[in-house]
Amino acid sequence: MLAGIEAGGTKMVCVVGLDASHLFAQKSIPTTTPADTLPLLINFLKECEQRFEPITAIGIAAFGPLDIHPSSPTYGQIGLTPKLAWQGFNWVQTLQEAFALPVSVDTDVNGAALGEWRWGAAQNLDNFLYITVGTGIGGGGRVNGKLLHGRFHPEMGHIRIPHDLQRDPFPGCCPYHGDCLEGLASGEAIFQRWREKAQNLPPDHPAWELEAHYLALSLTNFLFTLSPQRILLGGGVMKQPGLLHRVRQKTLEYSGGYLPYLAAEIDQVVTRPLLGDLAGSCGALALASGCEVSKETT
Ligand code: ADP
Ligand code: ZN
Repeated sequence: MLAGIEAGGTKMVCVVGLDASHLFAQKSIPTTTPADTLPLLINFLKECEQRFEPITAIGIAAFGPLDIHPSSPTYGQIGLTPKLAWQGFNWVQTLQEAFALPVSVDTDVNGAALGEWRWGAAQNLDNFLYITVGTGIGGGGRVNGKLLHGRFHPEMGHIRIPHDLQRDPFPGCCPYHGDCLEGLASGEAIFQRWREKAQNLPPDHPAWELEAHYLALSLTNFLFTLSPQRILLGGGVMKQPGLLHRVRQKTLEYSGGYLPYLAAEIDQVVTRPLLGDLAGSCGALALASGCEVSKETT
């Protein structure tokens, strides 16, 4: 039996089971401080061991920044997050002390990508991205058949995109960059620009044309740099009816006819994830199963 934990900014979603279609139990635990959250999480896993069978490995898909390189002495450690209580917390060390088991850690978005690859909308794909448009924006995925890691880990929400200040005077809300992609197009940016929660803006509000514009600019950049077979767009903001269609149309427009396959395949290339709220925790289960053993080259 494996354990998978999606460690998010507001909650930890924990599952135990053999795989995504054989889950024995799941539990959501609020993310407060390590001192409060970890005992609840460890108790849940120990209870599961008593009710079912011993856990053999633990996978974690966590918010970052985070050390995801297994050969590093600080593997599993959280970096300079605005969630101050979690700065310096080490997932691998803490869970190995509690369970003496193999522990694998990756980013929340790589976890979700891995879940979608095993059981969801990216099965059998060697090149795809998973992008979440929620409170913030993040991206992960697989390139040439391996999870994308790099020197640190990708932070696709912080790419720079054109910002026409006449059309959109909002300066952006990223504390590091102002008007990066996340600063312009995250749920938080929508809220600050229009002073209204994204879910309350009607489908004909100008917010959605602008949102599709920014997301499509970023997708065009990702298509031209990484050449993914598919881009899965998840996160709360993508629940807006009609947004996905607008993003597809603008991505086609901005790529300028240069990619020969795109016009015929846009609906398959830019699409939704399938696993919904369980993508991250099931991806963490897949991390635990070692189906993706990260091999470092740097
Ligand atoms: P988080 O990123 O915090 O993990 P979500 O992926 O659920 O969580 O994203 C939350 C964001 O999604 C919020 O900014 C919220 O305003 C926005 N959101 C939620 N529902 C909708 C909706 N139906 N349409 C547009 N935006 C939505
Ligand atoms: Zn930024």
